[in-house]
Amino acid sequence: MNDDAIPSSRRRSIAMKMLCCLPGLFLLSAFATGCQTPPRAVLADLPEYSILKPDRPSPSRTTVVKKIRPRQVRPVARFPREWIPTTKERPWRWVVIHHSATDFGSAKFFDRAHRRRGWDELGYHFVITNGRGGRDGHVEIGSRWGKQKWGAHCGGTPNNAYNNYGIGICLVGKCSKSLPSSGQLRSLKKLLGFLTARYGIKPADVIGHRDAPNAATACPGDALHRYLNNVIRPELSRSRRLAAGSR
Ligand SMILES: [Zn+2]
Repeated sequence: MNDDAIPSSRRRSIAMKMLCCLPGLFLLSAFATGCQTPPRAVLADLPEYSILKPDRPSPSRTTVVKKIRPRQVRPVARFPREWIPTTKERPWRWVVIHHSATDFGSAKFFDRAHRRRGWDELGYHFVITNGRGGRDGHVEIGSRWGKQKWGAHCGGTPNNAYNNYGIGICLVGKCSKSLPSSGQLRSLKKLLGFLTARYGIKPADVIGHRDAPNAATACPGDALHRYLNNVIRPELSRSRRLAAGSR
């Protein structure tokens, strides 16, 4: 039947009746489905612990919380693998710092000079170059270190102890009035961090050549010696305290 066949007043009456029936139809359909499945949107809005979940944290959640503990930030240093000797390591007790008292130099250069003096080979275990003879701040490993051989850099001490158990580091440069380059100092601190941690050497036992018993020398120069006392040793002590506190 065409809608035009129904008078407009009759159409309005039919529409009104349908509107009145809508709530009833809705209730009927809800009853039929049992109202057991709330719409998805309602489920998503529910708080985490609702009637749909136990009203307490699950045991696994409690375990996770217990595992989180406050942590102290610990300096993590990465060291070149070649610094670690592959032979049996000597029980090192000291680190002795030197300057070359020359403007330039390298492990190879000092090795030749030391041999000319009749020594067996380069007397130091490490040389830190300054850009003249070797890259600025480069740590050169002396031939003795790989063999874990005693040093030949700090003679005249009782029982030759500072040669036998002292690691010799030489910074290229004249360090009486001016400090080594910042690159050299950075490398020195890194190397000292490695050596003191690996061999348990106390900051007080990181010394300048002039601090060794019976030493009659100005080495490693006033400026570097001051820096060693005022900056390097306090920094080593701080790192040591931090490392002890985080154990
Ligand atoms: Zn020296």
